[in-house]
Amino acid sequence: MHSSQSDGTEPPAEVVAAAHRFGMRTMALTDHDTTSGWAEAGDAARALGVTFIPGMELSAAHEGRSVHILAYLIDPEHAGLRRATDRIRDSRIGRAEAMVKNIGRDYDFTWDDVLAQTTDGATVGRPHIADALVARGYAHDRSAAFNEILHPARGYFVSHYAPDPATAVSLINEAGGVAVIAHPVPAGRGRMLPMGVLRELIGLGLGGFEIGHRENTDEGKRTLRQLAREHDLIVTGSSDYHGTGKPNQPGEFTTTDEMVERIIAQATGSAPVFA
Ligand code: AMP
Ligand code: ZN
Repeated sequence: MHSSQSDGTEPPAEVVAAAHRFGMRTMALTDHDTTSGWAEAGDAARALGVTFIPGMELSAAHEGRSVHILAYLIDPEHAGLRRATDRIRDSRIGRAEAMVKNIGRDYDFTWDDVLAQTTDGATVGRPHIADALVARGYAHDRSAAFNEILHPARGYFVSHYAPDPATAVSLINEAGGVAVIAHPVPAGRGRMLPMGVLRELIGLGLGGFEIGHRENTDEGKRTLRQLAREHDLIVTGSSDYHGTGKPNQPGEFTTTDEMVERIIAQATGSAPVFA
């Protein structure tokens, strides 16, 4: 689940409350490239009796295409991982400024519009630009902004720095976390990583795949379930909740107790807050 520390629309405590309201016993906060929401989420989880798994969704890129890798139970102070996430977050700001400049060629639109939609210190992403376009009345909602003005075909898109997936998986492991590829076979967002790369990542200690996700194709799920069985990997499910930023509802896909226990047993970087 994502909070306003990245591109979710609710603060961490409200995200935990949403999980609780939807009957979740265990939830993970996985903001993009930051762990800054952990403390607030942990306190809320303790108060509500929800088990909290601290995590992060680390940005990576393979041949110019964005790949997100969930990092469960990492050590948030690990120097190498922090250097990487600091660099990604910096680059995301420059990238968002460049996109705003591009959009500003055709629309009355400035960096201040985006800042008004962004929590101080949050990881900046295209969703904040989308929200700013909505606030200006240029799009109906976030999804419409993504499908219209932010569509790559419109030419405003700029990419940001991200490590390659092998570096990302190694960093997560060095930080004591469990690396799980997020939405690995999305229908709309391009194709799955090549099998050769997946096997390389497995060799480097990839923990598993997020199979249960609304954007994964059925065929892709079958392929990755098979690969996970072959290598005895973890499979997870998630809502990828972003508050009102996406239609995804808490618990629309879940992770079995067995798999949650495996993640906890495998990790050495940090510990869950148990209910
Ligand atoms: P970025 O990492 O800044 O390039 O933005 C990607 C993020 O935008 C992803 O993490 C998604 O959560 C979000 N996103 C992508 N497509 C959509 C969409 N159609 N509607 C809402 N959010 C989206
Ligand atoms: Zn997101």
